Amino acid sequence: MSKSYDDSPQEMQSFNFDAIGVIESPYQEKFAIPRQPNLVSAAKGKVVLIGAANNAELVRDIEQFSHLWLLFVFHGTQAQGWKPLVRPPRLGGNVKTGVLATRSTFRPNPIGMSVVKLDKVTTVNKQTILHISGLDLLNGTPIVDIKPYVPYSDAIIDANAGFAQTQPNADLSVRFSQQAQNDLSAHFDEYSELSLLIEQVLAQDPRPAYKQGKSDDKIYGMSLYDLNITWQVSGLKQVEVLGINKQLELSTK
Ligand code: SAM
Repeated sequence: MSKSYDDSPQEMQSFNFDAIGVIESPYQEKFAIPRQPNLVSAAKGKVVLIGAANNAELVRDIEQFSHLWLLFVFHGTQAQGWKPLVRPPRLGGNVKTGVLATRSTFRPNPIGMSVVKLDKVTTVNKQTILHISGLDLLNGTPIVDIKPYVPYSDAIIDANAGFAQTQPNADLSVRFSQQAQNDLSAHFDEYSELSLLIEQVLAQDPRPAYKQGKSDDKIYGMSLYDLNITWQVSGLKQVEVLGINKQLELSTK
């Protein structure tokens, strides 16, 4: 006789998965990561397959799909646990909403899901890598599953999305100070698309929700790759990039 769910609830409620991959991302800290994928198309990263999943057979034919679902663990906030009610930035950061009605990282099971663009797949020296763009993931994020994105089923164009119906504004205009332009040139060989990445990230206004739409004197720093980028909001709709330094150079410049 087959067992029903009620016979062994404990047994049914715990699962143990190994990561199948790990993310390499320009985003080294939570601050300034876009709040959903595909808002910053210039963000390029990698899914590095690991363990038994590092086998090119697992991804045979995957390049037929332009986009993939990545299922991952919010490893950077996992230790902070979860809350039944959270304050989504889309509601200004002050209104409490049920965690399962949001994409918050503080969920009962810290599992995230993002659709990303698949640029190519490589296998070099037995290491299989999926090259992706548009990601919203912290460097080192563990990947627990990958599935092709299938528009006929996954894209529901007349769906209702409540308080998140439309894409958030990304209308801050970004200018680079003379110092930042010099820094960009100095790092060009290593990061040729850095200026576009910085522009797209800052256009989203990464500041906390309560500061959005407001002027602000504070000088902010954000980490992309091994660089620290300093910037400041000037007026209501402008950001100025002040400088771009290797993290280690900071104390000497
Ligand atoms: N698209 C995913 C989803 O809907 O499940 C993630 C949405 S969540 C609101 C996006 C935020 O998660 C990012 O802005 C970043 O701050 C945070 N984040 C990304 N990767 C993370 C990780 N590995 N651990 C903790 N937080 C992470």
